[in-house]
Amino acid sequence: MVITIALRVRASRMKCCKSSGAASARRLLMPARETEAIILKTFPLGEADRLVSFLGRTSGRVRGVASGARRLKNRYGSTLEVLSHVQLWYVERETRELVRIQQADLLESFHKAQSDYGLSTGLAAISEISELILPEHEVSEPMFRLILLAVREIERTGDWNLPLSYFAFWTVRLGGWLPRFDRCVVCETPFGSKPAFYDAHQPGLFCEKCRRPGMKPIHIEARNLAERFTGERLDRIEYQKPMQASARELREAALDWIEHHAERRLLTRELLEST
Ligand SMILES: [Zn+2]
Repeated sequence: MVITIALRVRASRMKCCKSSGAASARRLLMPARETEAIILKTFPLGEADRLVSFLGRTSGRVRGVASGARRLKNRYGSTLEVLSHVQLWYVERETRELVRIQQADLLESFHKAQSDYGLSTGLAAISEISELILPEHEVSEPMFRLILLAVREIERTGDWNLPLSYFAFWTVRLGGWLPRFDRCVVCETPFGSKPAFYDAHQPGLFCEKCRRPGMKPIHIEARNLAERFTGERLDRIEYQKPMQASARELREAALDWIEHHAERRLLTRELLEST
C-alpha cells in the first residue's frame, strides 16, 4: 500500500515536471541537506520568522529562514542563539538566495557565555568578524574549528581576553594578512627585544628607526605570545594576569588588520572596551 502511494506521488511529480518546466522540477525534488553548523547571527524577519546566518561545516556560510522561530513556542528552542553549535537541516530553493531551515539540534551549549553580558560581547565580536570575512558558500574547515575552539574556551574559562586574541590572530593568519614578526619590513633589521611598530594601512612591521608617525607598538612579549599562538592550541595555554597587556596588544593589531582588509569598522570593538 505504502509503495503504491509512493509510486503514485512520484508519477504525479513527473507529470508536473513535464508540464511546468525544469526549474520547478528541481525545486520539487531538492532534498534536505544536513550539516554541522555554527549559528553566526540571527535577525527578526517579519512577525514570526528569523533570518539566520550560519557557517556549515560542509556548506560554508549560508543564510536562511527559520519559520516561526520568533513565536513563543517554537521548534528551535535555544538552538539559534549566537554561536550555538548545532546539527542543521535545510532545503535549498533554486530561485531564492535564502535556504529554508527545517530543523536544528543543539550539539553543544554555550549557555553561560551567551547569557552573560560581558562574555556575550566576546561572542558578538567573533560573530561579527566571521560574518565579515567568510565568503558565502565557501567551506572553511580551519575557520570552523577556530570559531568553535575560541567559543569553547570563552565558555570554559569565563573570560574572552585570551580566546578573542587567539581568534583574531589566527583569523589574520588564515587570511594570509600576517606580516613577518621577526624583522623590519623596510631595512630588514631583526627586532630582537625591541618593540616593532605597525598601523593598519601599511603592510609589515617597522623598526624604531623606520617607524612612521602614529604607528602603534607590538612589544616583545606580544610577539612571543604570537609565537605561542602559532605553535600551541588555545586550550593548552594557561592565561595568567601578566599576559593581559600582550594579549590586548596582539588583539588590537589583529583587529586593525581585519578592519583594513575587510574595509569595514567592527561595531563590536567599542563594546569590548566597555566590558
Ligand atoms: Zn627598519
